[in-house]
Amino acid sequence: MSVWDDLQGQAPVVTALRRAAEDAAPTHAWLFTGPPGSGRSNAARAFAAALQCEQPAAADRGCGHCHACHTVLAGTHADVTRVATDKVTISIAEVRSLISRAQDKPSTGRWRIVIIEDADRMVERTTNVLLKAIEEPPPRTIWMLCAPSPADVIVTIRSRCRPVGLRIPPVDDVAALLARRDGVEPETARVVARMAQSHIGVARRLARDPEARARRDEIVTLPLRLSDVSGAVRAAGTLVDLAQADAEASTADRNAAERADLLAALGLTEEDKVPPSVRSQLKHLADEQKRRATRSQRDALDRAMTDLSTFYRDVLVLQLGAHTDLVNGHLDATLRQFALASSPETTLRRIDAIAEARERLAANVAPLLALEAMTVSLLS
Ligand SMILES: [Zn+2]
Repeated sequence: MSVWDDLQGQAPVVTALRRAAEDAAPTHAWLFTGPPGSGRSNAARAFAAALQCEQPAAADRGCGHCHACHTVLAGTHADVTRVATDKVTISIAEVRSLISRAQDKPSTGRWRIVIIEDADRMVERTTNVLLKAIEEPPPRTIWMLCAPSPADVIVTIRSRCRPVGLRIPPVDDVAALLARRDGVEPETARVVARMAQSHIGVARRLARDPEARARRDEIVTLPLRLSDVSGAVRAAGTLVDLAQADAEASTADRNAAERADLLAALGLTEEDKVPPSVRSQLKHLADEQKRRATRSQRDALDRAMTDLSTFYRDVLVLQLGAHTDLVNGHLDATLRQFALASSPETTLRRIDAIAEARERLAANVAPLLALEAMTVSLLS
């Protein structure tokens, strides 16, 4: 077992990072890119572990069982700071505090490492502050930034980082990972890996949570329930509701735990009357969670659109007789029937309608409005 085990289907990246971890003077700034779910933050974490690994021989670094490897992977290593945000943007204050962390010498490890998991979620002014720090890092500091694609990071930052590009892992590799790491039954692992289109996190959730799978099925089969304009308008409402339910399910547990932690830290329980002096702290947490909810709803809606378009993608595959696996293999018969009732041209136009709605959502058009326009154009 080693820290690289979880990087399924990323052999070239693993080779490059292993070599860099053996290097006495590795590059000081790295940019990990790859589509959501490709494991870019896992890659950064594995690399950080290998850099800190205590094995005496450089070639063994990233052993996965020494104290340093363990603590880096668990997120508790004193010299590795990792920032991930659930908010829409990382604030300038957060980045300033990271920069001041980055100035410290490593306390126990070989390097001081700062990982920013959502480097694409910074406004330009914040990025400029970060740029200065990356240009002149202290000798033992290493920055690792993660973003969906190089284009998501301004060119001045990009040009100072060594790029690491992750690809979408093959379905079989994702299935193997779920089976090995999460104990998912192999056939189920294949089905969910295909449904999630190799997004590792989504695949894991679909494997573990039957309700998440039921919601996804309801989204994917939405085209079957589109018969007239009023049905289409209703379907748009259903889509928004399903995405919202999905976002809530994934954040509810976490919000409750955070509130309980804060109350405990204040020496209170849920039953106690909250004294006025600590009300502002609870309100601060609630505001924070509300801001986060906005992002997670947007992400869930985007995911729902992706799922919906896999229906038409599969229909197109069948209409063109392409020899490719269906994303929704479990709906084979339904898809075949649907494919016979329309033409590839119609299907392509419908896929375009979904893409257009996604663009409108990204441009902040009210969700229901964008989706109604979409479901109505899916009718024709
Ligand atoms: Zn180790």
